[in-house]
Amino acid sequence: MTAEPHRYRITPSDPGAHLFEITLSIAEPGPDGQVVSIPAWIPGSYLVRDFARNVVSIRAQAGDRELELVKVDKSSWQAEACHEPITITTEIFAYDLSVRGAHFDTTHAYFNGACVFPQVVGQEGRACEVEICPPPRPIGSDWRVATSMRARDAERYGFGRYYADNYDELIDHPVEIGNLLIGEFEAGGIPHAIAVRGHTRVDMARVCQDLATLCEQHVELLGTPRDLDRYLFLLLVLPEGYGGLEHGWSSSLVCSRGDLPVRGESGMKNSYRKFLRLCSHEYFHLWNVKRMKPQRFTPYDLRTEAHTGLLWVFEGITSYYDSLQLMRSGLITREGYLELVGTTITRVIRARGRFRQSVEESSFDAWTKFYKPDANTSNAVVSYYTKGSLIALSLDLTIRRDTDGRHSLDEVMRECWERFGETGEGMPERGLESIAQSVSGLDLREFFERYVRGKGDLPLQRLFKDFGVVMHLRPQDSSDDCGGKPSSSDRTPPPWIGMSISAKSGRDLVTVVHSDGPAEHAGISPGDELVALNDVRLTAANIDTRLREYHAGDRVTFRVFRNDGLLNFRVKLIEAPEDTCWLEIDGARTDEAEQRRSSWLR
Ligand SMILES: [Zn+2]
Repeated sequence: MTAEPHRYRITPSDPGAHLFEITLSIAEPGPDGQVVSIPAWIPGSYLVRDFARNVVSIRAQAGDRELELVKVDKSSWQAEACHEPITITTEIFAYDLSVRGAHFDTTHAYFNGACVFPQVVGQEGRACEVEICPPPRPIGSDWRVATSMRARDAERYGFGRYYADNYDELIDHPVEIGNLLIGEFEAGGIPHAIAVRGHTRVDMARVCQDLATLCEQHVELLGTPRDLDRYLFLLLVLPEGYGGLEHGWSSSLVCSRGDLPVRGESGMKNSYRKFLRLCSHEYFHLWNVKRMKPQRFTPYDLRTEAHTGLLWVFEGITSYYDSLQLMRSGLITREGYLELVGTTITRVIRARGRFRQSVEESSFDAWTKFYKPDANTSNAVVSYYTKGSLIALSLDLTIRRDTDGRHSLDEVMRECWERFGETGEGMPERGLESIAQSVSGLDLREFFERYVRGKGDLPLQRLFKDFGVVMHLRPQDSSDDCGGKPSSSDRTPPPWIGMSISAKSGRDLVTVVHSDGPAEHAGISPGDELVALNDVRLTAANIDTRLREYHAGDRVTFRVFRNDGLLNFRVKLIEAPEDTCWLEIDGARTDEAEQRRSSWLR
């Protein structure tokens, strides 16, 4: 006899108060009093968010009899001991419009299971059934349900009963309920769909075609996972927004309205390229982190931080492949790809945190550092996404070059997938390193010691040269210059002050003071409000022009407000550092370099 599943029912019950009502029926509660808990974090986003703080009410019953329910810690409750089935009923506040949250108002309902479904502690392996109910009328008459959860007796995109094999799977299927625009396509012989919510006149046929091309490319690289029989992109379109969260059979994405192509629009605009890159990133995660994950995540401990030094493997390597696969699929050109790599290099070299932290340390401390950015983050923290992607690039090029093209990172990833992914075993902390060595036959210990566990700058210039690509470095020519391209100005770049500025609610504020730069030496601090440079008004909008009036070596006076007090700082301007990168195909390459390049950028 199979065990009775845990039965959940979720109703978007009060749109004005933003409440979901959830009931959970537990057929065989633990004899000493069943404990239920709400996760502290959601897989894929490494920050303790304490979703239990959104619990507005919670009670337990056996039939009509109220049971005592005692709160035992910040996210768990224990019901009175009981030998018959019990029901937990809770109301949860849902007003977080992010891919990791839950949100309900008169326009739609969205939730991640981690935010709304109590976990039956000790019985997490049991199957779960979920009845998704419509909101109270009159709202929701044209709403549909989009989720990758398998339907038990619900119509396609309809309300009704769904199921999952266990709690981990239950919370891996976000659900969007609203007036949805749905496109369907096939990739690798598997049905795929995209469900879009928000005001948009997107060219759905084009998006489906591009996503099909992209997904095929990924399937070709690592092969179809045995349990992948469907996939869904959930997309929320906002006036301004960007982000995504990966899941095993779906992903939740947010983009800006202008990112998507409308009917009749052709060509590859930068914002659509960015959107496709996001889709590519989350789709690659379906292998790299959803099925193949750090051993320390098998199983997930959702009560507290789960530390691993491997996030750079799961986010960095994914970031390397997100754009590489776009290029391989033909959706972007080789030049477009090199431009993306140039902007990533620029971001890495502009942040001095790379001298303070290794990517392994950054991964381990993601919970308290990378995910809790503050004024000092760029000086103290290295991004395991961006530097991680450059490590992946360097590892790929090193293996290709030093094995005369016989091996590559593709092969390393395939071997990792076979060993740690398909087996469900999880990757040990040095797993990638040992597979990279055994696949390539190279001694890569120094590479990992220097660039992964150490803070060394990657040997990019040399590697690119060996692959017939020239890496150029130049000074930043304006505040919005992100690199990737040659300078767009023939004027000399402005001298350097070493701080970033942005306009917020009508005030021009210092956001970052770069370590060891002129602003830091003078005492200018994050949060200072710009007033004047040498007695003439200074703003975020005019700072480039104003600085161009001076030269490196000049001493100038900055006036700022700090806590309403006017302060003056004497600053000696210096020459702008060459921290902006762009890449170019080498016209004077050797045949060998050209051969290497065409096998890498095939
Ligand atoms: Zn990611």
